[in-house]
Amino acid sequence: MIQWYPGHMTKAMRMMEEQMKICDGAVYVLDARCPLSSFNPKLKKIFGQKPVVYVLNKGDLADGKADAFVSHIKKSASCVKISAVNASSRKALEQAVNLAVAEKRERLAQKGYEKTLRFMVCGVPNTGKSTVINLLAGSKRAQTGDKAGVTRGKQWISCGGFDLLDTPGTTPPSFDNQTFAARLAFVGGINDDILAMDDLTIELLKQLGRTYPRSIAERYGIEGEMEPVEMLDCVCRRRGFILRGGGYDYDRAYRAVIDDFRSGKLGKITLDDISECNTEF
Ligand code: GDP
Repeated sequence: MIQWYPGHMTKAMRMMEEQMKICDGAVYVLDARCPLSSFNPKLKKIFGQKPVVYVLNKGDLADGKADAFVSHIKKSASCVKISAVNASSRKALEQAVNLAVAEKRERLAQKGYEKTLRFMVCGVPNTGKSTVINLLAGSKRAQTGDKAGVTRGKQWISCGGFDLLDTPGTTPPSFDNQTFAARLAFVGGINDDILAMDDLTIELLKQLGRTYPRSIAERYGIEGEMEPVEMLDCVCRRRGFILRGGGYDYDRAYRAVIDDFRSGKLGKITLDDISECNTEF
């Protein structure tokens, strides 16, 4: 059972609500491997009627299933799938941001105004907010890290025609859907320190067994219906995680499976499926 809503997040949400009043729009960074599981409807409420650019980041780790979400989101907002670590994504990102505020710019221009538009950049921890900001800013100004919750405090970064406000990572206030919560944990959106890595690993192997059986067959030799402990035995055998006394080193197996998934060693994987989506972005 995953439950996580530390006090600093309540505070961050309140702060973001306040700051949204002075922003012209939002850049909402979702994880392309699970756009639905990394979406927080509370944030959409905070954006109100202001334009939102949905950035499905880590596109290099997701497969084509993520594109169905891009099409779905584009029905109501600006959306782009990118890989923020890749400089070649910059143009598409800039275009999406410009598209989102084109109307507003036009309105201002008609009145003879020109102003630097402000965007709040938000998303769950570790989804790549700082990397997205760096991509837009063209410099290494925002601090990046790969631990949930590294980005803290508030920070304005100016780039081209925009000012970007970096915000702390926030997760949905409740995880009614534990399948989605687990997916968020798989991609690193929930602090690992509060998670039971054994349960998480088994859940990941089960979900992949249903949707990407070839990935775990190739890397770990896991095939067909297996009990959780059998799956872990396979991982230990394949990777050589054997204790001195000859038993299996399950702790190493948990870490290895999660790391393999996060780093793309299990291949390009999209966990959410568009058929599960009845969300309006
Ligand atoms: P933040 O917590 O949302 O600000 O996330 P960061 O920008 O610090 O990124 C978290 C981790 O994800 C870092 O190790 C980044 O290098 C990595 N990362 C960010 N964007 C991408 C991407 O598009 N693809 C891949 N493979 N890794 C990424």
